[in-house]
Amino acid sequence: MTRFIFITGGVVSSLGKGLGSAAIAALLQARGYSVRLRKLDPYLNVDPGTMSPTQHGEVFVTDDGAETDLDLGHYERFTGVGNRRTDNVTTGRIYSDVLAKERRGDYLGATIQVIPHVTDAIKEFVHANLDGEDFVLCEIGGTVGDIESLPFLEAIRQLGNELGRERSCFVHVTLVPYIKAAGELKTKPTQHSVKELQSVGIQPDILMCRTEQDMPDEQRGKIGLFCNVREDAVILAHDVSNIYEVPLAYHAQGLDKQICRHFGLDYEAPDLTRWQDINHAIKNPEGEVNITIVGKYVSLQDSYKSLTEALTHGGIANRQKVNLTWLDSEVLETDDDAIVASHLSTADAILVPGGFGERGSQGKIRAIQFAREKNVPYLGICFGMQMAVLETARNLAGLKAASSTEFGETSEPLVGLMTEWNVGNELTTRDEDDDLGGTMRLGAYDCVLEQGSLALENYGKTDISERHRHRYEVNISYRETLEAAGMKISGLSPDGKLPEIVERPDHPFFIAVQFHPELKSRPFEPHPLFSGFVNAAKERSRLV
Ligand code: GLN
Repeated sequence: MTRFIFITGGVVSSLGKGLGSAAIAALLQARGYSVRLRKLDPYLNVDPGTMSPTQHGEVFVTDDGAETDLDLGHYERFTGVGNRRTDNVTTGRIYSDVLAKERRGDYLGATIQVIPHVTDAIKEFVHANLDGEDFVLCEIGGTVGDIESLPFLEAIRQLGNELGRERSCFVHVTLVPYIKAAGELKTKPTQHSVKELQSVGIQPDILMCRTEQDMPDEQRGKIGLFCNVREDAVILAHDVSNIYEVPLAYHAQGLDKQICRHFGLDYEAPDLTRWQDINHAIKNPEGEVNITIVGKYVSLQDSYKSLTEALTHGGIANRQKVNLTWLDSEVLETDDDAIVASHLSTADAILVPGGFGERGSQGKIRAIQFAREKNVPYLGICFGMQMAVLETARNLAGLKAASSTEFGETSEPLVGLMTEWNVGNELTTRDEDDDLGGTMRLGAYDCVLEQGSLALENYGKTDISERHRHRYEVNISYRETLEAAGMKISGLSPDGKLPEIVERPDHPFFIAVQFHPELKSRPFEPHPLFSGFVNAAKERSRLV
């Protein structure tokens, strides 16, 4: 029997609902239950693929090629359960499906309305593509009270009614602010938020109150009383020092116990060893490494969420604290080597992450040149691989005009738009004039690693699969030119046409990949490239 937990948020946004949902799922897993997490986003974009990373944070790509909300990254990192396209939906997607059906005449002449047509489509999404999981956790994006959320709240209200209390549970995450002048925690915003939820017919079963302070029992009792929630189901969600402590903190507050009680399940102590080990490693590092990330959206670190987490995981694997410096690549756009060195000389390792557009690319190439010449460990991801190829072509192969067609026409297209490639057995054709939404090479693709390569040494196997999100590819016809300049193509698509990994055998650790390895890293299963990279940074920090 599949049970459903619906997670809503109130008072303010950014309460960490996504992390909270992921942590609840992790606690259920620790009791042996199977879980699936889903996110219902009320905005009108069909998916986050076209949204600016500075506004919306990272776009998380699934194996099956969906561009989804960054919370899905937390879900995977906390549970290890791979997300699918059917685990994230937006108002835009729901409406476009409903309207497509209407155009096809599927509604047989009916008047199409929010209730029941839109709410039915939302409910179908909640139930779709499940594998008999013990628990499905559905997080509703946005804040209760937003106009946009109403159809979603109505849909989950109906689901609660249809499933019954024994199969559904409503968790509401709120903020209990501390007012310094009064020296008190204030419960009123929570009361209002719950009232708002009740006004659409939803009575929360569990409240998770985010606070910076300990909450006296009296306040807890008051919240319970005014919000019609049992006092012990009012859970304190205290701020913690690192996100992987959240499952332990919620457990200490009795959250999983309350969920079991709600569903009438036997309460047995969960096995939290995995989380204890991770926290032990994070809190007791044996050393530190300094890694500089040279990119464009460095002002909003949410746009590189999975990347920073993967680096933390690499740190866990090596018992290192990873200190990150975010450097705007444009500061490196100078001919003066001393200026470049002044920004990069403290780095034990340099990383150029994914990116789009020409602005700042020259600075990234300068950073890569510095890493290559000074033997500083380098990891390039997606755009960071394309720029590494341009660096070698321009500075070592004498191809001054080497460029990417992403930046305009060029006589030396080292990186170019592939107008077609294989998805499974089908040939997918892309046109330069296609819509921007969903036109990239997206999702998991196989890659074969070369014998004797650094890539193979790190992965420990020749056949790998990694997730992609890009339009341009390194042009295989330049293979000989690159190899003559010391850059080896060490990973290729199975048909041998698409370079997936390049590396420099003359360097201690210089590797760049066309895919996004950070999307598959987990705290309890750090990605081999990030473990290898942090290890190389550790070696370097010992040398200098
Ligand atoms: N802009 C490059 C491309 O589209 C790289 C994209 C990325 O780094 N994700 O191919």
